Amino acid sequence: MNITLDTQKDPMGAAIAEYYAKGKAAKLRVFSSQFYEDEIPVDTLFRDFDEMPPQEQEALRLCRGRVLDVGAGSGCHSLQLMNRGMEVVAIDISQLSVDVMKQRGIDARVVNFFDKTFDEKFDTILMAMNGIGIVGKIERLPQFFMRLKQILAPGGQVLLDSSDIRYVFEEEDGSFSINLAGAYYGEIDYRMQYRGIKGEPFDWLYIDFDTLSMYAEQYGFKAEKCLDGDHYDYLARLTINV
Ligand code: SAH
Repeated sequence: MNITLDTQKDPMGAAIAEYYAKGKAAKLRVFSSQFYEDEIPVDTLFRDFDEMPPQEQEALRLCRGRVLDVGAGSGCHSLQLMNRGMEVVAIDISQLSVDVMKQRGIDARVVNFFDKTFDEKFDTILMAMNGIGIVGKIERLPQFFMRLKQILAPGGQVLLDSSDIRYVFEEEDGSFSINLAGAYYGEIDYRMQYRGIKGEPFDWLYIDFDTLSMYAEQYGFKAEKCLDGDHYDYLARLTINV
C-alpha cells in the first residue's frame, strides 16, 4: 500500500493549493452514498490554534519528542508544533498539499502512511481531524496497528481524534436506521470535488472509543481517552502495551 494521489484527481489538494496562493477558494464538495452532499470550508484547513476544536488543541499540548503529522493537509498542526520549537515531519498522499507545506517551511513528504518502506521512528504520531479515517474499514485495523509498531519509537504515543457517528443513524424514537449487526456503522464512502476536479471514491473510518479500545487491546496497544469533544467526538492516546 504505497498509493499516492494523481494530481489530476486530488480535489482537496487543489483546494489547499488555491487557497494558499490566493487566500480564498471555491467550494470543496463532499459526496457520500450514506449522507447528503456536504462541504468542507477550505479556510478551516488553514485553521490556527484558536480556531481548532478542543481535542486538537489538547493533542498539540500532548505532543512530545519527534512528531509525525499523518495526513497533514495544509500543515496547520505541523506549523503549530514548529512554533513551539518541536521537530516535525509531515506526510500526505497529496503532492499538491505537500508542495504547499514545503512552501510553508515544513519538512513534508509525499508518503502513504501504509507504505512500509517509510520506517523512520517517532515519539508522537499525530492523526488530527479524524486522522484514523485513512484506515477506511475496520478490517484494516490490524495493518494500522502493525504500521504503528514499525514507526513508534520506544515509549512513543499516538494521538488521534475520532467520533462515534452512531447519532447520525439514530431516529427520534431511539431506534436505528442502520443494521447494527451489519458492517460497522462508522465505515463511510466519500468522494470529493473541487471545481471540475473529481476525486476517486475512498473509504473513511469513524470509530467510537470502545471499539477502538477493543481492537487496540487485541493488537498489543492500550487506548486511553484524553478528552471528550463537544459532539460525540473524542481525543485518544494509543501506547504499546508492555
Ligand atoms: N490533518 C489535516 C488534514 C485532514 S484531511 C487537518 O486536520 O486539517 C486528510 C488528509 O489525509 C488529506 O490531506 C489526505 O490527502 C491525507 N491522506 C489520506 N490518506 C492518507 C494516507 N494513507 N497516508 C497519508 N495521508 C493520507
